[in-house]
Amino acid sequence: MTKITFLGAAGAVTGSKYLVEAGGKCLLVDCGLFQGARDLRQKNWDRLPVDPASIDWIVLTHAHIDHTGYLPRIASDGFRGPIFANAATHELCNLLLLDSAHLQEEDAKFAAKKGYSKHSPPLPLYTTEEAQQALAQFREIPRSDPFTISPQFSVKPYDAGHILGSSSLQITITENGKSATVVFSGDVGRYNQAILNDPASPPRADYVLCESTYGDRDHPTTPPDDCIAEIVNRTAKRGGAIVIPAFAVGRTQTLMYILRQLENQQRIPKLPTFVDSPMASNVTDLYIKHREDHRLSFQKLEQSGDGDPLDTHEVHMVRSVEDSKKINAIKTPCIIMAASGMCTGGRILHHLEQRLSDARNVVIFAGYQADGTLGRYLLSGGKDARIHGQHIPVRAEIQEVSQFSAHSDRTEMIRWLSGFQAPPKRLFLIHGEPDAAQSFSARVQQQLHWNVSIPKLGDSFDPFA
Ligand SMILES: [Zn+2]
Repeated sequence: MTKITFLGAAGAVTGSKYLVEAGGKCLLVDCGLFQGARDLRQKNWDRLPVDPASIDWIVLTHAHIDHTGYLPRIASDGFRGPIFANAATHELCNLLLLDSAHLQEEDAKFAAKKGYSKHSPPLPLYTTEEAQQALAQFREIPRSDPFTISPQFSVKPYDAGHILGSSSLQITITENGKSATVVFSGDVGRYNQAILNDPASPPRADYVLCESTYGDRDHPTTPPDDCIAEIVNRTAKRGGAIVIPAFAVGRTQTLMYILRQLENQQRIPKLPTFVDSPMASNVTDLYIKHREDHRLSFQKLEQSGDGDPLDTHEVHMVRSVEDSKKINAIKTPCIIMAASGMCTGGRILHHLEQRLSDARNVVIFAGYQADGTLGRYLLSGGKDARIHGQHIPVRAEIQEVSQFSAHSDRTEMIRWLSGFQAPPKRLFLIHGEPDAAQSFSARVQQQLHWNVSIPKLGDSFDPFA
């Protein structure tokens, strides 16, 4: 029987996995890691309700770990089929999956040393070797041309404008001479961004599975460069450091582009900027390489003689751990960007440990902070941060600049849905926390008069119904 099952990102923003079954074949759309609160992360250790060996193919909407980070685990649990992704997504996954494996290994080692893990001895969810195994299963697909996986499944990608390579996938499912079309939105980006194209709406679908991360709010309309200029100037004047937990993919590049523009316009001082993420600088190279996703003309910027548009004037790309530690000694105003963006791991934790207790400093959150993360705790005014098992008093200023979000807000999501030529039979709201999904459901029913459901983990539906 034909059905689509929600195996992740139902009632939460992470763990995206949707199983499409037709004609005895199984296609998994996205294969994300659960991130955030401990009970959610614990789900990564549960066995999937479907045997990984019985899945024939995986297709990816984009490279973010909450859409791809389970691939090494599913491969080591028996999935042997091809993983379809476009060139940019493939190249980003080369970086992200190895980094994710490395982080899992480091966290397990660190927990062993400090003795605070629940597992004894602490285990990584997967190893670098297992990530390499998954990467060997990648097969490149076209950026926007349609392609056929099998007699049951064909796919047409649309640019989702969220990160490099990001797509919404229109999948046509065929069984016994009948066809149904289902759109998987992936993560939908914003309109009129600095670097990437606008998100494109697929023309039609019988069913739509749409993200709802920001379904309950609109992003502020103040231009992001005004916000950043104001915070940078204020903090530099009082001698503080600007700490930015940044997702290595997308956010870092947009922030660097805006900081560079502000420096060129002499609206902010030229501060030393530390990009403390070997991955972020590798990703920046990919952003410069894959221009098919750009609205921005790099050529024009390069010809203007203003230098590299994705670097500030005094940029330090920090690679080694020793150089990362040296940043601690810098007591004059500077900008520090490090991953992870939600402060769930990575080098940002060491910088927060160093900088949170000083009231001159500022921490700028430029992306979504999931429930249960340290980022969400700081944003909601928490004063006692627990980092690496220690208590750190929070005296630094905490700021949110959600204009940098890589996700559409409520109004933009309605605009994206309005681009469909006809209403689908049903819209499923996924990839949102319950309040956001509920609120967006009410909005869609009121403005577009569509049928809307909010599925729970494990729910399924028949696309031929
Ligand atoms: Zn994403």
